[in-house]
Amino acid sequence: MSDFNLDNWWQPFTNVRAFRDNPRIFTRAEGSFLYKEDGQEVLDITAGLWCCNIGHGRREVADAVHKQLMELDYAPPFQFGTPPAFQFAERIAGHLPEGINRVFFTNSGSEAVDTALKIAHLYQFARGKGGKSRFISREQGYHGVNVGGTSVQGLPNNRHGFPLLQEVDFLPGMLDIARNAFSRGCPEHGTERMAQAFEQIVAMRGADSICALIIEPVSGAGGMVPPPVGYLQKARELCDQHDILLIFDEVITGFGRTGSAFAATEFGVTPDIMTSAKAINGGTVPMGGVFVKDEIQQAIFDSAPAGVPEFFHGNTYAGTPVAAAAGLASMDIYEREGLFTCAGGAKGEHWADTLHAMRDLPQVIDVRNYGLLGAVSFDSGDLPAKSLGPKIHQRCYDNGVLCRAVGDHMVMSPPLSISEGEIDLFAERFRKSVNEVLG
Ligand code: PMP
Repeated sequence: MSDFNLDNWWQPFTNVRAFRDNPRIFTRAEGSFLYKEDGQEVLDITAGLWCCNIGHGRREVADAVHKQLMELDYAPPFQFGTPPAFQFAERIAGHLPEGINRVFFTNSGSEAVDTALKIAHLYQFARGKGGKSRFISREQGYHGVNVGGTSVQGLPNNRHGFPLLQEVDFLPGMLDIARNAFSRGCPEHGTERMAQAFEQIVAMRGADSICALIIEPVSGAGGMVPPPVGYLQKARELCDQHDILLIFDEVITGFGRTGSAFAATEFGVTPDIMTSAKAINGGTVPMGGVFVKDEIQQAIFDSAPAGVPEFFHGNTYAGTPVAAAAGLASMDIYEREGLFTCAGGAKGEHWADTLHAMRDLPQVIDVRNYGLLGAVSFDSGDLPAKSLGPKIHQRCYDNGVLCRAVGDHMVMSPPLSISEGEIDLFAERFRKSVNEVLG
């Protein structure tokens, strides 16, 4: 049907050879739906890639982008500024935990992560602790694809074959189906295990060599795993005790996913640095950001020589007025429609009820949820592990629902603007698909 060939675009994270035999092309989107070439609707239960939190095709955002393009399409961000970038940074700061007011814009989550790691390093140098250069992160964590982010992420396929930073130690992953199966919200077990592993790493390396701990408050690409009860509080406590910075990678959890604007607020734990991207402007124009404690920026400023940039780092499109205009328009929608908090209210409850009712489907070994995040895990039975996920994923797509397969975990993150009726439609199509594959 397509009037273009499939040979030239090398798609990211795609089995391109398989795709060429079975192309899956979207041509339109509106609200909670994507539309295929032949017009079939697909309920987007992933909000794109955890990014279209305000739903697709918001005219307000399109109008703001168009207006900005005609008024001021671009100006260099090095040594110059534009109103939308300053205005958007100020609006974001209004939703960040107290004491975090500095916003460094990037173009993606990966760039935000590598920028955060550099800021953490620079801060340690600035205060005369340059020996604190190591990072702690977590198995099954995902922190993007740049060299720093690839080095601190714990998904083996993404690391394999690349030369990476060596100074990284890993906490155990949070997914523990044996002990936590079918938890609603935060699971019970895992905090103690993390604390022990953290202390072991500190004992082995010495706190004087450790710069920062970087973790996702809720693990996303690792299979959507909420933090065990007390986990984030304990991480903060341990970091404080050993003078280690705490970085929350909020690329997925930011902008309303958990029931608060940010997971930091939701869980009542203030990190030192946060990363964000994706839903920052509803997934419309590439943008990311690093949100930094005022005192960290101040220490870096205080140690920098006069007359030069305090931070020799930045991207051509950092805080581009068009991305910021999309951000300002998205922020209007988030605030006006109460989208930052709806995942913690009646809609979140309906989502959790719907998801946990999936327990009766064949071969389900776990259901997890937090805010408007969810996962249903399957046991592949006689099939090789990780083969069921792609099968269910394909059948869901055929039946008009887009979710994501991480191994044999089906992972969901609907637009925050989704209606309860659309959540019911998801359940109907998902159940049908699973029963067709396993029935
Ligand atoms: N960090 C986390 C936690 C992510 O989930 C992602 C993307 N899924 C990234 C970083 C990287 O973001 P991007 O794809 O925009 O580079």
